[in-house]
Amino acid sequence: MSDRFLEFTQTAFGKQLSGLLGLPQPPRLRRADGAYAEQPLARRSVLIGTAPHAELAGAMVASLAAAGAELFIAPDHTGIAPLKEAAHGLGVALKGEPSGESFAPEALVFDASGIESAEGLRTLFDFLQPRVARLARNGRVLVLTRPPSSLDDIGQRTAAAALSGFTRSLSKEIGRKGSTVNLVQVRRGGEDNLAGTLRFFLSEHSAFVAGQVLQVGAGEGAPATFGSPLAGKLALVTGAARGIGASIAQTLAREGAQVIGMDRPQEEGALGETMSRIGGRGLALDVSAKDAGERIRSECGPLDVIVHNAGVTRDKMLRNMPPHLWDMVLDINLGSIVRINDKLMQDDGFKPGARVVCISSIGGIAGNPGQTNYGATKAGIIGYVDALAPAFAQRGGAINAVAPGFIETQMTAAMPLMTREVGRRLNSLSQGGLPIDIAEAVTFFSSAHSAGVNGQTLRVCGQSFIGA
Ligand code: NAP
Repeated sequence: MSDRFLEFTQTAFGKQLSGLLGLPQPPRLRRADGAYAEQPLARRSVLIGTAPHAELAGAMVASLAAAGAELFIAPDHTGIAPLKEAAHGLGVALKGEPSGESFAPEALVFDASGIESAEGLRTLFDFLQPRVARLARNGRVLVLTRPPSSLDDIGQRTAAAALSGFTRSLSKEIGRKGSTVNLVQVRRGGEDNLAGTLRFFLSEHSAFVAGQVLQVGAGEGAPATFGSPLAGKLALVTGAARGIGASIAQTLAREGAQVIGMDRPQEEGALGETMSRIGGRGLALDVSAKDAGERIRSECGPLDVIVHNAGVTRDKMLRNMPPHLWDMVLDINLGSIVRINDKLMQDDGFKPGARVVCISSIGGIAGNPGQTNYGATKAGIIGYVDALAPAFAQRGGAINAVAPGFIETQMTAAMPLMTREVGRRLNSLSQGGLPIDIAEAVTFFSSAHSAGVNGQTLRVCGQSFIGA
């Protein structure tokens, strides 16, 4: 469904009127117009800085340069020495930040590792405060740090929490320009895996991801090349006939995967159409069928990727909830995911290095009245991926979840007008996301671009104020 208000505010009259009335003016987001490029940041100006005792300068400079970014440093910046040293060692050219107001960097990236006190946060302020107003529209701010190394380290834990509060607040300030702020915590040993995560957050592939924290750790190494990350991979997507699932199937195919789309037998016609558009294969099978795991194993063979997208809502206040609606939602949204994965894990249904992506919801984080069944399943998914992460790490793979916010689909088009408008506007970007936004995050988790990311849930919600 198109967002008519957004379109209206893009016109001269709409802009003037919405300004006069103090209404939101949602920015037009710049989304990726195709597959991942080998150098998605080519010719993009990225201004970088570090805290005095930062540890990630080398990984940051190497990842950005390999992604094609044009790197700038501020001549008066206190953290300039580690950057120059890292760049010198890597043979990367750093340019001085041009003086004057006309320089509008497309990204600001700051290595905040080593900050362990309130005073230490001042270096982050000093770097970003004079520059944030000059960030280009649809720009990116990315803060890198370490997760606390010990539960007993009060300084590290305080600083980590402070950085998350800082990034989430700044993201709410600059969202009206279509810009986002995110925080990446790099575990020790995860430096070589930073490259793919950095490409995701700094490119148009993450247009609707704002105010989030993601951890990158050691584990399966980053890919040698970044184009066509799913070439030769076999991926199954449940609920693929329409909506978000169809977009996921299409985006995985865009990156080279051979896709099998699965949906209920009643949807066979729609599924066939979607699959023929993307050169994929259809499997008419209900996820809640007791033999779904066996049939997937026998009809598809071992998988590289499975995306558990199929999901339903059957909203009722708990006092009015009949047991069959409780059972149905619990079984489709959660029970079937556990059963299918168990079966595939038992019967060699996953290839080595396989990746599993589950679709959760911000409804599972905040809870919604009338959604005790749905909220339980979507929160259950978050616990499930966390619990299963070590088992997948042992196989060289990963399991993660994506939690969509308000996404423009048939489901949200059916909402009453006012509820829909509230759901759409109450986020940092003042608009609903598109199915492609979820598909991009799923594609990131389905490929080695997300090497070192395991057991996590990424909200793709434009930093929704509901469920924040
Ligand atoms: P959708 O438009 O209703 O599409 C879901 C697809 O899954 C449909 O094709 C549906 O087929 C299929 N499906 C349902 N039950 C199935 C089953 N038992 N076996 C196989 N396929 C089944 O939903 P959507 O908006 O794209 O949502 C996709 C996922 O994102 C869901 O898990 C949802 O909870 C989650 N999500 C969506 C939003 C949003 O704003 N749209 C927000 C948060 C989370 P039928 O048409 O036959 O039912």
